[in-house]
Amino acid sequence: MSAPRITVAGSVNLDLVARCEILPGPGETVLGGVFDRHPGGKGANQALAARRLGADVSLLARVGADNEAELALALLRRDGVDLSGCAATQDTPTGVALIAVSEAGENQIVVAPGANGAFAPEHLPEVIEDALIGQLEIPVATLAAAVDLCTGFVALNLAPALPVPDALLARADLLIVNESEAAFYGETRLRAAGGLLAVTLGAKGAELYRDGELIAKAVPPTVHAIDTTGAGDAFVGALTLALLEGQPTEEALAFACAAGAACATGPGAQPALPSRAQVEALMVSTGGLTPHHPPGRV
Ligand code: ADP
Repeated sequence: MSAPRITVAGSVNLDLVARCEILPGPGETVLGGVFDRHPGGKGANQALAARRLGADVSLLARVGADNEAELALALLRRDGVDLSGCAATQDTPTGVALIAVSEAGENQIVVAPGANGAFAPEHLPEVIEDALIGQLEIPVATLAAAVDLCTGFVALNLAPALPVPDALLARADLLIVNESEAAFYGETRLRAAGGLLAVTLGAKGAELYRDGELIAKAVPPTVHAIDTTGAGDAFVGALTLALLEGQPTEEALAFACAAGAACATGPGAQPALPSRAQVEALMVSTGGLTPHHPPGRV
């Protein structure tokens, strides 16, 4: 059987990170920052997560016609994500996140969405036959149009938390939120949407509901977490892929939790997104469920 095909409609950002002793207050300047650039954006992260775990992935997105775009797309390109639906706009720059991180681990983040905000419904293809993964770092109207065009499985990661119409929730086959997003939308509303709902709970794992009923819980392997950035994105890519492979819900949830945990063991988001072999090795070494092998793999 060939690998599941997934289209991700979402954001591409370049994260510009400065580490400093203390964060500046309003009007203040601090010196001594160490600077780094990382590819980011939830759309790009989730596309790469699913790709590294074995899916055939294409990304629908907008970047600027600038150097930042090349840096932001480098790991996706290297790992074989199809970027033919990721066009450059002439008049808006690539989205950036300006991130200051203090020695105490606190951060300040300003996101300038740039081209992500210019991703309009008319940029979408005529139909999306693959499964679709979407998030809320592109205009809600564009996400809603992508969902309407999709003839297959629809997974929506409702992050960052923003107002969305009930019809969007109802069309999704799978909704994924973390604890604070669950509080924003209200679990009653999310469960009433029907279909599958996954709520992630950080190191405590995740719960899966079907039509409002709890059907599975999973606890991730215990890991030495050094940076949980991207753990949620690894979870989204992994759970969607596992369900498309036909894994039983309990196993799919355990696989997604292990993918999130594996991501937390490395620095940054995209560099730390695990391969399938890494997730399976982690599951075996920590005595979790035996990893499920999709048909055609041994
Ligand atoms: P988000 O990053 O979207 O807030 P979470 O923090 O809930 O999402 O993480 C997503 C998943 O990643 C969790 O369900 C869990 O399986 C895994 N994970 C996150 N943090 C840790 C951790 N410290 N140890 C082990 N697993 C983790």
